Amino acid sequence: MLLSRQVDIEVNNRLQTHSVATTISTNPALSDSMFAIPDSIAARAQRSDPTPPPVVVTLVELAPNVWRAEGGSHHSLIVDQGARLVVVEAPLSAMRMEAMLDTLRSRFPTKPVGLVINTHHHWDHSGGLRAVLAAGVPVVTHARNLSFVRSIATARKTVRPDVLSRRLGPARSPLPAISAVEDSLVIGRGDGQVIAYRLPTAHAEGMLAIYVPSAKILFQSDVVNATPNPPAAGSAELVRFVKARGITVDRVAGGHGVVVPWADVERAATP
Ligand SMILES: [Zn+2]
Repeated sequence: MLLSRQVDIEVNNRLQTHSVATTISTNPALSDSMFAIPDSIAARAQRSDPTPPPVVVTLVELAPNVWRAEGGSHHSLIVDQGARLVVVEAPLSAMRMEAMLDTLRSRFPTKPVGLVINTHHHWDHSGGLRAVLAAGVPVVTHARNLSFVRSIATARKTVRPDVLSRRLGPARSPLPAISAVEDSLVIGRGDGQVIAYRLPTAHAEGMLAIYVPSAKILFQSDVVNATPNPPAAGSAELVRFVKARGITVDRVAGGHGVVVPWADVERAATP
């Protein structure tokens, strides 16, 4: 990486700051005293409530065997494959994911979650993967994100240590499988079939879209954040993808927003 030796910042031709780098060190050890909160500030700070608000997850049926697990800003897709459930997306945090797994356990007591598919690496769509892996559930992701997801599984976790934290000690037990989608991956058959496809998009490299053929539902995150008027650029990307894959889509469900009819996406994609 190259760094400028001198940086001058002017606003309306008036010099605001002038800095010259004389030495540069990377990641130096920082003394704890730098992070100490002065007593005068600590005395005035409001105490926060240490109890986090409960996470609410609501299951909305989209079609026979297909639900969207909605919870505020981020959603997941649930597909019933008969003996097990497939979940698409583990958003936000361990707490959110644990609430979702609890919800599914109580609603479908005989059907364990057999697989979780991750759409892309952004933190708000992958923050629940650690909890998924700690629950012993295999994960499928885009090949580009394979080592990233492995690093989530093997990272040290000292705040709220989980099963995987203990696993990293001497008694190592095998991790759940973490597998990659190279081009596409067909999971299951019949009404519960789910197909994960690579989705080329400007939003992020390493993106998957998930298609449920029986319901003609396409799940994606962040390409079309479905409002009643989907964005033109993301809609055009989805239309190109659907044509290239030769699939028929009736509705687009996603990690955010409402479920939109495919016709609305096609309209938004038309300049
Ligand atoms: Zn994203």
